[in-house]
Amino acid sequence: MADTSFDIIIIGSGPGGYVTAIRAAQLGFKTAIVEKSYLGGICLNWGCIPTKALLRSAEIFHYMQHAKNYGLYAEKVGYDTKAVVQRSRAVSKQLNDGVGFLMKKNKVAVIWGEAVVDAPGKITVKKSAVEAPKGTLGEGAYQAKHIIVATGARPRVLPGLEPDKKLVWTYFEAMVPERIPKSLLVVGSGAIGIEFASFFHTMGSDVTVVEVLPQILPVEDAEIAGHARKRFEKQGIKIITGAKVAKLEKKADSVVASIDDGKGKLQTVEFERVISAVGVVGNIENLGLEKLGVKTDRGTIVIDGHCRTNVPGIYAIGDVAGPPMLAHKAEHEGVICVEAIKGLNPHPMDKLLIPGCTYCNPQIASVGLTEAKAKEGGREIRVGRFPFIGNGKAIALGEDQGLVKVIFDKKTGQLLGAHMIGAEVTELIQGYVVAMNLETTEEELMHTVFPHPTLSEMMKEAVLDAYGRVLNI
Ligand SMILES: Cc1cc2nc3c(=O)[nH]c(=O)nc-3n(C[C@H](O)[C@H](O)[C@H](O)COP(=O)(O)OP(=O)(O)OC[C@H]3O[C@@H](n4cnc5c(N)ncnc54)[C@H](O)[C@@H]3O)c2cc1C
Repeated sequence: MADTSFDIIIIGSGPGGYVTAIRAAQLGFKTAIVEKSYLGGICLNWGCIPTKALLRSAEIFHYMQHAKNYGLYAEKVGYDTKAVVQRSRAVSKQLNDGVGFLMKKNKVAVIWGEAVVDAPGKITVKKSAVEAPKGTLGEGAYQAKHIIVATGARPRVLPGLEPDKKLVWTYFEAMVPERIPKSLLVVGSGAIGIEFASFFHTMGSDVTVVEVLPQILPVEDAEIAGHARKRFEKQGIKIITGAKVAKLEKKADSVVASIDDGKGKLQTVEFERVISAVGVVGNIENLGLEKLGVKTDRGTIVIDGHCRTNVPGIYAIGDVAGPPMLAHKAEHEGVICVEAIKGLNPHPMDKLLIPGCTYCNPQIASVGLTEAKAKEGGREIRVGRFPFIGNGKAIALGEDQGLVKVIFDKKTGQLLGAHMIGAEVTELIQGYVVAMNLETTEEELMHTVFPHPTLSEMMKEAVLDAYGRVLNI
């Protein structure tokens, strides 16, 4: 008879769930993970990874079109949409298989089906619509002292903008287009919306982005978002901020959007396709949580610093436990959760130290406070900036447009935030994340040797600039 009793059961195998399972197994817990659709969750199958594969194809296509700038010929440059999508799906499949391998390697039991929490310590797994992979446990009742909810999130649906999979897409359909639409409306300019806008624009769509707030990339530093907007507009992406898509009228193979500019003017524009990228909501329903009295707030589960809900024995991590809805936040929360269960007393998550990256062209990356937030409460700050045009490696790469910006507390020298736009900044940001985690001061950063020639040198130059010592500009 199959084993039904575990120390820890995790519901959902996204980056939060599967990393939690591995760490739990490392700590000696008998662990099981329940999944109803795809190992690796949204991130590996319909989020972070397949989008980066699509964006990589777009990036190479862009470079091929600009081969001349590098002294190269590339004739008859083009693409095959089906092959681009196939490559992205193959990358996802490889990682999805990889999660299966990691579960086996760490002796984590995989239970296939849809879990409902019956009571603390007890779940029932029902048959899922997706066929079970080989070697998984099936439907039935299971027990565990600790139940961790890691059920992720799904696209937010706004009234009037309901996706229909054909003309109005969510990220699911946008990731597997049969052809690149001639014109595209992207509603929402967060990371997901902007990445798709960048991908489809590079592949040839005439893209319009509509954002209800006054700034695109609303969580980013205003100066960086301003640079991004200028770059996108120069590329030919149309951006309308402070505006709302009031209505979508579907035709046979197009959509007419009524766009309210927020000042009483309504314009109607026809698009071949629309992507609704207006955020995500936590998967808190149909889990039995209401019956158990698990506290939720605006569509996410309320947790404490060690990911405990208000009901003993029930925990939540990742997207379902609230923003920022990012894979690395989900993973880290999972590790904190099981280490706390083990009694290791881990540091609670400091959300200020969670970096955010957008993999559009140009890339955007940030950590910590924006300039506006840093100034709140009257704090005095020092700001340093360094432009890509002053960096040898950036010029050699043909990527001389961009900016690195750092913000320090004027009194203490504490690094409060770092914000970047330009080539490879999503790789660079981690240097500042480590620095902030170690509570590094400006002195230590200025005494750190950065390799030459690298883009990372700009990170030191920006710090030097904050203290009036910039060298290469
Ligand atoms: C287009 C797109 C691009 C993104 N790009 C990035 C990026 O570049 N970087 C980044 O950090 N984040 C990115 N994200 C966000 C990232 O995907 C999420 O933050 C991350 O997947 C959250 O992980 P999770 O483990 O909380 O949940 P998920 O990955 O959503 O996994 C939850 C899993 O739980 C399963 N599940 C749900 N309910 C049940 C149930 N009752 N029983 C059994 N199983 C259940 C689901 O099937 C799913 O597999 C992106 C998201 C999207 C949509």
